[in-house]
Amino acid sequence: MSVSAFPLRKRVVLLGATGSIGQNTLRVLAAHRDQLELVGIAAHSQWEKLAVIAREFGVRHVGLFNDTACAAAAAHPEAFLPGTHFVSGVAGLAELAQLPEADIVLVAVVGTAGLEPALAALAAGKDLALASKEILVLAGKFILEAAHLHGAKLLPVDSEHNAVFQCLQGHSHSTVRRVTLTASGGAFRDWPAERLAHVTPADALKHPNWSMGPKITVDSATLANKGLELIEAQCLFGLRPEQCAAVLHPQSIVHALVEFNDGAILAQLCPPSMTFPIQHALLHPARAPGVDAPLDFTKLLSLEFRPIDEARFPMLRLARETMNAGGAAPAIYNAANEIAVAAFLAGGIPFLAIPRVVEQTLARIANFEPSDLDAVLTLDTEARRVAAREIENLKSTT
Ligand code: NDP
Ligand code: MG
Repeated sequence: MSVSAFPLRKRVVLLGATGSIGQNTLRVLAAHRDQLELVGIAAHSQWEKLAVIAREFGVRHVGLFNDTACAAAAAHPEAFLPGTHFVSGVAGLAELAQLPEADIVLVAVVGTAGLEPALAALAAGKDLALASKEILVLAGKFILEAAHLHGAKLLPVDSEHNAVFQCLQGHSHSTVRRVTLTASGGAFRDWPAERLAHVTPADALKHPNWSMGPKITVDSATLANKGLELIEAQCLFGLRPEQCAAVLHPQSIVHALVEFNDGAILAQLCPPSMTFPIQHALLHPARAPGVDAPLDFTKLLSLEFRPIDEARFPMLRLARETMNAGGAAPAIYNAANEIAVAAFLAGGIPFLAIPRVVEQTLARIANFEPSDLDAVLTLDTEARRVAAREIENLKSTT
């Protein structure tokens, strides 16, 4: 029997390895090779980038959602380690998520494409570190059920939810009065409302505090990101809509605050780098020195909190309305937002049309309580179709 140099290493599969969360995860993995081992990686199509990661971390299981990209990777075996196993499509990603040697799967695929692999990981009893908030908004109930059924841990990677998770350790959920997520305010926090009609994708992609992928950066500018996160918090921590709040906090140092029924508030603080929540989720329940420098209280540090003007950020108001409506409304909100953000990034619609498309899509689809996952997926497809039609209508009237 061979004895590993690192017998207690957790073996990690990383879906979305080439993205912003993926790259931060690689920094955590590189710093903790004694505790974490990367065994599988996947992306959509950037196979050359995956090849570099595979060689650096000694990974022999590689997935590409895009079949053509997967064929291109397989045609260049010299770029990978000998004996590399390539998989493609959603089934390939699900196969990676169930690798017998994996202990934990980190899903950081943009949008909802990671839903099936996430469910596959849970079905195989793997712990799930979840960055892709859209999955919880679409099908949170089914994710939670699968985790419970298979005795797998669900570890939030989104910084606010990771913060709430940390604050709740050792406390009964029944003693929680309210959870408050902080919002940086995004690219247009300090812009006068009248300038928002003319913002370009390049403007929206300039985030003041965080460096992230394009979709979530636009979501931060509309505050849809905070809307999605309120829904995510409601789902993850079993809260009522009125127990979920958001506050503007320009420094992005306090990530969430949990208020208990005795009035005490616990908060989690760290600099705005995703390496902190990623490392927490991967090593949980262990802790280890972080990759980035911690806060330094020998230097001046001001923390500021302001209420959010929901009239200025209709995506936040709409998120709250979907939480109150329940049923399929959050899933419709998510799907319409994804389509509208893609259209905005492609130059097809103005920034202020994003909430209009979402509101109109919500108005056109009758709400219901999806009974199973198939019903959710059908609804998701329908909401995307309706949102795309709304965008076409908008283009033809302007
Ligand atoms: P990026 O756009 O930077 O990266 C997306 C990643 O997903 C890339 O690796 C991309 O591969 C891959 N991908 C896209 N589509 C598919 C698919 N169908 N199958 C497999 N892989 C796919 O996104 P982020 O890293 O910013 O965000 C990822 C998720 O994490 C999002 O859900 C976001 O909301 C969430 N999140 C992100 C935060 C951040 O700081 N960035 C913070 C909190 C949550 P390829 O490179 O080949 O296109
Ligand atoms: Mg977040």
